[in-house]
Amino acid sequence: MKSRPGLIIELSDDNGNTGLGEIWCNFPSNSASYKFQLFKDIFANKLLNKNINEPGSILTVFEDIKTIFIQADELGIFNSILSALNCAIWDLFAHKKKLPLNKLINKNSKNKMKVYASGINPSDSLKSINLGRKKGIKAFKFKIGFNNTLDLNFIKKINNNISIDEFYMFDVNQGWKINDAKKFINKLSKFSIHWVEEPISALTDQDIYLKFIKSSKLPIALGENINDKDQFSKFLSNKYVKYIQPDLTKYGGISMLGKYFKSKHKNKIYLHFLGSGVGLVTSAHVMSAINENGYLEMDLNNNPLRDSLFTEEIKVSNGNIILNDLPGIGFKLNKKNIKKYQVDYFSI
Ligand SMILES: [Mg+2]
Repeated sequence: MKSRPGLIIELSDDNGNTGLGEIWCNFPSNSASYKFQLFKDIFANKLLNKNINEPGSILTVFEDIKTIFIQADELGIFNSILSALNCAIWDLFAHKKKLPLNKLINKNSKNKMKVYASGINPSDSLKSINLGRKKGIKAFKFKIGFNNTLDLNFIKKINNNISIDEFYMFDVNQGWKINDAKKFINKLSKFSIHWVEEPISALTDQDIYLKFIKSSKLPIALGENINDKDQFSKFLSNKYVKYIQPDLTKYGGISMLGKYFKSKHKNKIYLHFLGSGVGLVTSAHVMSAINENGYLEMDLNNNPLRDSLFTEEIKVSNGNIILNDLPGIGFKLNKKNIKKYQVDYFSI
């Protein structure tokens, strides 16, 4: 990542409301511009004057262009754009019902959601832990596994610096080959690591992956790269899978999770997120509604597209993102601030 991009859709409806959604676009570096152009050229027009009675029905609006993306082998882009639209429409629906998004999903939702700090590189790990502690954050995730290696010294250093009331996990970002992953996890099992995330390729055969998870001596987390709802369901319901991390801006939006809102497996859902304030706050709403005892991923790096995106700052206190009682996601875009960082924009 050469920079921290953000790609935001604002939809308006006949009720005078606006709904916000974010399209996943972290990398490759020009991903945001490409997706922006595709959205502008072939998605936006189709949304005009559409009657949408249920957020999940957004799929049907774009059914006829889906084949283009299948043929181009770019279904991922199609899915990310649809996820963002789905979230924006959920936001609109919550506005229409005059409810915060989390209360629309679950009326008992609380106005806060615990977060864990992520995006931490080995080189600035101790600095990041201290930064997180200032916000009351108790859980930290570090990147490891670069070039199929295991840096035991780094892991010992983290283990020695985490307090008794804190916990930590490692994200391998698919960096290990399966046989090495087994060896490395055996070596790590003497540490109390909360989870090891995506140790192997997300394209690993599902049965092989599940067998690997079953035999692992440490809990495995995965899900940000699942792009098939049946596969998601299979991982979610597997008893050896303790943490599953879909990304609302990448695949399926909020509606993909709809059938699990009341499922006994919902407590395994720990939303993945790395992007701007829109996706973060949307994810905080959904997590607070479906798994209030879980932890939401929050990037700890400086990012004005997160911190200065709204007219009101997103506050993290006592390790929680603080939500409010306003309808929808409860935050309004600060267009003046956005202008400072804006690369491209269009309105229709
Ligand atoms: Mg990850």
